[in-house]
Amino acid sequence: MDIRGRRQSSNVEDRRGMRPVRTGVGLSLGGVLFLVVLSLFGINPLPFLGVATKAPEVQMQDTGQPYQESPREAQTRELTAVVLADTEETWSALLPKYGVQYVEPKLVLFSGAVASACGTGQSAMGPFYCPLDQKVYLDMSFFDDLSQRFGAPGDFAQAYVIAHEVGHHVQNLVGTAEKVSAAQQRMRKADANAMSVRMELQADCYAGVWAHNAARSRQLLEPGDVEEGLRAASAIGDDRIQKQTQGRVVPDAFTHGSSEQRMRWFNRGLETGNPEACDTFSAAQL
Ligand SMILES: [Zn+2]
Repeated sequence: MDIRGRRQSSNVEDRRGMRPVRTGVGLSLGGVLFLVVLSLFGINPLPFLGVATKAPEVQMQDTGQPYQESPREAQTRELTAVVLADTEETWSALLPKYGVQYVEPKLVLFSGAVASACGTGQSAMGPFYCPLDQKVYLDMSFFDDLSQRFGAPGDFAQAYVIAHEVGHHVQNLVGTAEKVSAAQQRMRKADANAMSVRMELQADCYAGVWAHNAARSRQLLEPGDVEEGLRAASAIGDDRIQKQTQGRVVPDAFTHGSSEQRMRWFNRGLETGNPEACDTFSAAQL
């Protein structure tokens, strides 16, 4: 991606160098179900749930020391702010067609752990979106994991991750997230997981819709970028992650979709640029 001279979003909140402290009582189970749905991938959400069900309310406390970022971190922060700005362009142009005004989400940068309205987030969970405060939470060290552990390097792989989380914000604004969460409360675990897969694949498709618009209207993409995005979508498929962490694949436990499905839906958004092509909920085949 060529981000030189591009607008950077003013919606980035830098909370690196701050740490969470307890201030009160905990979260309801409804909030927890949301969390299962909205993280980036299926790596062990349980530690987070454990924290969230019992968690005291947490706020961030300034450690008094400004966060010292490396030149590389500064570069990644700039990329993040440019991609966020570009998703703002895309979605504020697209959503009014559906009678929805786009409300720009905040993106919180953190290091280690962070307090969100959905409970305490940990870096190990990967990036996540909290519908209760409409914020995307990102520890940029995840991008090192994406590159080294999951074999998906590159700035566009990172952009895909951000656009996927913003996709969850879109689902929240248009009411999909609420409907799905309500339906899941009445379902057996396997069915609820299957709903989560559709939700995640739709966020992948929305990431593709963003990429389509970024490429066509603003020439943000360079050759090789699409391949980077697809590699990232494939790398964080549930099957791939399960194999890496448990040595076997259990389709019933999927909450985000297989590598192939994630690539397919990202691609569908990318090719059409149309959010209506992202109706994973009525698709007979994912
Ligand atoms: Zn997700």
